[in-house]
Amino acid sequence: MVDFLVLGAGIAGLRAAMTLAEHGRVLVVTKEARWESNTHYAQGGIAVAMGGASDVASHLQDTLDAGDGLVDRAAAEILVREGPERVDELLKWGTHFDRNGETLLRTREGAHSVARILHANGDATGAEIGRALAAVAQSEKNIEFAEWMTACALLMDDQRVVGAELRDAEGRSQHVLSRATLLATGGAGQVFSETTNPAVATGDGLLLALRAGAVLVDMEMYQFHPTALSIPGVPRFLLSEALRGEGAHLVNAAGKRFMERVHPLMELAPRDIVARAMVKESFADGAKQPGKIFLDMRSVRGIQLTERFPGISRFLAEHRLRLDRDRIPVSPAAHYMMGGVKTDLCGRTNVAGLFAAGEVAATGVHGANRLASNSLLEGLVFGARAAKAMAIDSEQLPIPKTREDASSSQQWMAVSNVEANERLEAAIHALRGMMWRCAGLLRDAERMHEGREALKKISEEVCSIQNSASTSRVATEARARIEVSRALLECAIARCESRGAHYRNDFPQKNSTLERIHTHYRADGTVKLECFDAFAEVHRDEENDSKSSIQRMTAGAACGSVS
Ligand SMILES: Cc1cc2nc3c(=O)[nH]c(=O)nc-3n(C[C@H](O)[C@H](O)[C@H](O)COP(=O)(O)OP(=O)(O)OC[C@H]3O[C@@H](n4cnc5c(N)ncnc54)[C@H](O)[C@@H]3O)c2cc1C
Repeated sequence: MVDFLVLGAGIAGLRAAMTLAEHGRVLVVTKEARWESNTHYAQGGIAVAMGGASDVASHLQDTLDAGDGLVDRAAAEILVREGPERVDELLKWGTHFDRNGETLLRTREGAHSVARILHANGDATGAEIGRALAAVAQSEKNIEFAEWMTACALLMDDQRVVGAELRDAEGRSQHVLSRATLLATGGAGQVFSETTNPAVATGDGLLLALRAGAVLVDMEMYQFHPTALSIPGVPRFLLSEALRGEGAHLVNAAGKRFMERVHPLMELAPRDIVARAMVKESFADGAKQPGKIFLDMRSVRGIQLTERFPGISRFLAEHRLRLDRDRIPVSPAAHYMMGGVKTDLCGRTNVAGLFAAGEVAATGVHGANRLASNSLLEGLVFGARAAKAMAIDSEQLPIPKTREDASSSQQWMAVSNVEANERLEAAIHALRGMMWRCAGLLRDAERMHEGREALKKISEEVCSIQNSASTSRVATEARARIEVSRALLECAIARCESRGAHYRNDFPQKNSTLERIHTHYRADGTVKLECFDAFAEVHRDEENDSKSSIQRMTAGAACGSVS
């Protein structure tokens, strides 16, 4: 038994753990070594408005504009307003952002109206923040880590989450009871064949949440980063937007820039616009096979590229490429999940005892399209808020009973079986290819219905083999990918318009009646389009009376349905 269980050791989980440690014993669980997470790979930086009220206001406006009519203003205001304090804390805890003397250096990325992005070690911001946070967390006597442990199920007692079932690499099970549990399990890029995300990003938290009765929102809103390295057989290594912020151009196979024709911000237009423009350009003049698109930095002067981008330069050198000498082949890849587990402004889900923060959560800050470098900030701000709410709410709830009284929200046993594992891997390979084809950058009803049928078959195949899959981690990840894919497809089918990251060839325009309308997905596979007041109903600050919070969350009514 611990006081607080934190599933995930990325920026959201670690920041939450720091506050929780003031209130009790905390266990932080991670699927692999504690540094392995999306956070570790974040390159470009963290967006933060440290220049006073007008700076905060312009950060808010950029966030609202990028989110394309789906951002919850109250959530975005919290993000930009509380961001500076959270970043000051990071500095106090020993995070080394890049400086010129005493002055923090700032860069600009897509859809930001000014340079407000702090970075560390050039292009290794996430790794530096993760290092600093992990170091302070390790020094806290109230925080313990459980590495190489997979949360396979949440433990339920009378509709309340009271902990989780964890399995180690050999599949041995352990039930950990807790007064409050935080999902900080990150994103789900691994449902697509083309992704910048590491192997741990399989959307497990979404599966656990759904099975416990939580609601997912905006699952169709998946951000595709325009510039992942595109070399056959090489992982889709991210080439940070900061490269374009420092002057890189996108050019077609003939070496011509094309973003000038597409958007006034050109290469720094919002990510969805740049990514789609790249796909369209690659098929220009009726080409049957896509032509290549390149990132070209050869004419950038005034910065030492290997110093400013040491990590990227090192990775490119392994493939005999140089930023100052070569055009770098790029293509879009799945990068960031805007949707997720629906929470209020303090990380509460609609299930008692269950909280979510970071990429797995949908607070409403990103809407239909995340502003570059806002996600590390979201992990910090809402990780801290969720922790406060966990401390408050757990005071109101009885201590969880012993494990015999807690039932797992999901049951399956797993034994070692090499053949079953190979079949499972083949099914997942098929799923990821299908998702890229049918629910990637350019969608339409026909392809998505095809995807839905293919998913049914893949799901049957996985169900038939999961009981003999090799480890519980593999089985959990397989089910998570299936559930996330289903949610994403169903929400994308339900949203008959193009908005933000969600683009449909058969509905290429925005539908103004869908502004502020969000897809809500439940475990029974149903999707409802409900207005944002459904969020507002459950929004509350921790300063308010906490006693009625759980009842209010459950009662949170939709303000109307449009389909
Ligand atoms: C290549 C890349 C570059 C990026 N660059 C930037 C950037 O410059 N700026 C920016 O703001 N954002 C960036 N992002 C996005 C940002 O990194 C993430 O959105 C953010 O770090 C997510 O943090 P998190 O704490 O929510 O999750 P993560 O950092 O992904 O952590 C998830 C944790 O959950 C654990 N976990 C998952 N499932 C389970 C399970 N079943 N059981 C136990 N543990 C589990 C994992 O092991 C991991 O510890 C980038 C992302 C990528 C992939």
